[in-house]
Amino acid sequence: MVKPIKLLSIMLCFLLIPFLVGCSSLFGPKEYSDQQFLMDTLINIEAYGQNEKQLKAAVDKAYQEMNKIALLTDRFAKPGTAAYEQSEVVKINNAAGKKPVQVSEDVYEMIEMSLKYERFSGGAFDITIGPLMDIWGFGKKEKQHVPPASLIQEKLSLVDSDQVFLNKDNRTVFLAKPKMSIDLGAIAKGYAAEKAAEVLKQAGIKQALINAGGNVVVIGKKDQDNLWRIGIEDPRDTQNVVGILSLEDEATVTSGDYQRNFVENGVLYHHILSPKTGKPARGTWSVTVIAKSSALADVLSTTLFVLGPEEGLKFVEKLDGVEAFYVGADKKIRISSGLKNKVTVQAGKKYSYDQGR
Ligand code: AMP
Ligand code: MG
Repeated sequence: MVKPIKLLSIMLCFLLIPFLVGCSSLFGPKEYSDQQFLMDTLINIEAYGQNEKQLKAAVDKAYQEMNKIALLTDRFAKPGTAAYEQSEVVKINNAAGKKPVQVSEDVYEMIEMSLKYERFSGGAFDITIGPLMDIWGFGKKEKQHVPPASLIQEKLSLVDSDQVFLNKDNRTVFLAKPKMSIDLGAIAKGYAAEKAAEVLKQAGIKQALINAGGNVVVIGKKDQDNLWRIGIEDPRDTQNVVGILSLEDEATVTSGDYQRNFVENGVLYHHILSPKTGKPARGTWSVTVIAKSSALADVLSTTLFVLGPEEGLKFVEKLDGVEAFYVGADKKIRISSGLKNKVTVQAGKKYSYDQGR
């Protein structure tokens, strides 16, 4: 005979199991989030799932992937350090005018894509911008300042993507002119965020957000009923937003003049340069690109920034699955035609927004 106390505990067990199972679905998936400083930016990942241990393992692996890309593309690694040895961008730049350099699939892919969009954009996007970035002090050696016009002209002759030669079979990159240098600052973060998202998806994660300083990738929806809501910063007051995006399985990247800049004689000079003039591109305060691929969104955010609102929106309309949100220097908000159902514009009093556009 089963003793009453034992019987009671067996009965309790049967009652409790369905109750606990019910509770776990009631409480929904668990969240795991972490922050790490990489690529000069605080990178935040939040992921949702049932098993916290698995979430942590996947998120750790995603950061490792991003760190790998950060090391490969670090243009400013110091000689004599381990980072210097690992940077393929350093190797390519040091071998300019001398010899081709064999690179990883990641770096090859980023450069191949960059050259493609250099051509598509009529030269607005150009990774051979390195020597110009340095003279403006957006490298790490010099203090930021306006360089003399003669020096800008001299360095402009080194900005030439036609002088970058790729060999697919050997996976090599060759900069044909001595003193040329490439800078992957406009693509590396977006590419890294995309690789991190792939790691999370491979681990079975269906709900996550990666935020790499303005480069955002979302996996799935925020929850069953809601899309991810991502604010677009006001470029003149980053505590406020000028729009809210509703996204699912997409990436969004913002390029803005407020992100890295200095003021000289009352004029703001920022880090996105026109490869034609050698000076900061004017006409755009910020542009946010929405695309399936985060690497592409990153390339295009810089491209569209340089092109400016009018030309940039025409360019976007030619691309499939890409949308854009501009805050122009003329204080006008303009959006691409396909973005209307994905964004709530909050122009406030500062900006004008013509819904008809
Ligand atoms: P993003 O914030 O994605 O627009 O990238 C800006 C970074 O891209 C700069 O810090 C430079 O490293 C690099 N860059 C600046 N101007 C250009 C350009 N016209 N084409 C490609 N890369 C650029
Ligand atoms: Mg970019």
